[in-house]
Amino acid sequence: MTHLPTRIADLAADLASLALEARLARISRLAGRKVFTTSLGIEDQVITAAVARSGTAGSVEIVTLDTGRLFDETRALIDETERRFALAIERYRPAPIDIETYTARHGLNGFYDSVEARHACCDIRKLRPLALALDRASVWITGVRRGQSGARADTPLVEWDAQRGLLKVNPLADMTLDDISAYAARHEVPLNPLHARGYPSIGCAPCTRAIKPGEPERAGRWWWEQDQTRECGLHVKDATSAITPIPTSKMQVPAT
Ligand code: SF4
Repeated sequence: MTHLPTRIADLAADLASLALEARLARISRLAGRKVFTTSLGIEDQVITAAVARSGTAGSVEIVTLDTGRLFDETRALIDETERRFALAIERYRPAPIDIETYTARHGLNGFYDSVEARHACCDIRKLRPLALALDRASVWITGVRRGQSGARADTPLVEWDAQRGLLKVNPLADMTLDDISAYAARHEVPLNPLHARGYPSIGCAPCTRAIKPGEPERAGRWWWEQDQTRECGLHVKDATSAITPIPTSKMQVPAT
């Protein structure tokens, strides 16, 4: 059997030679459960359109993390996207007991008070639902792009997510905002109206603001924090979170 790093490198080389929809078709042929997590931003909307246009919706599950703190525009776009592409987007929500516990300890908006309280909120509203969404998945498809921030500048097309024990595929990693904007315009992809109001990156409503001209794309996320590499933990390799590391015996290495 081919060594995993070699298979990852081969798959990455394959994807690099393909246009977006062909990339999704190639990814859809990987073995095992394949999950695409969408936050309904322009990157993810482009991937959803590419999934629909490449006829791979039957083999790629599309899920979103409905944190309970999303913008109204984002929630409306979930419904609109399902209608536009005639596909289902499964909502994963935080556990009510986690919300109760967090609110009792920190207050509903306790994430403004400290980085620790913010991470705790992202943990219960995002990371734990994500762990459920990715349960028994072999492939995780994301809309991460290198151009989104300095912290994402080295994002590969394909990587092994050792924390979750699955293959993480980032089919937009090498694309620019202009590339994906052109695709969205060409195929009339429904977009979050907040993008046109200065929000290139859209997360939870209380934690996202519009950016100023010249600011990095993700500067409006958790804007009150000083750490320039701030993330919610979804795409951080060594994130400290409540996710229980997956035993090696349960890892599902997909054939590439
Ligand atoms: S982005 Fe803000 S509201 Fe959303 S889960 Fe993280 S801390 Fe909580």
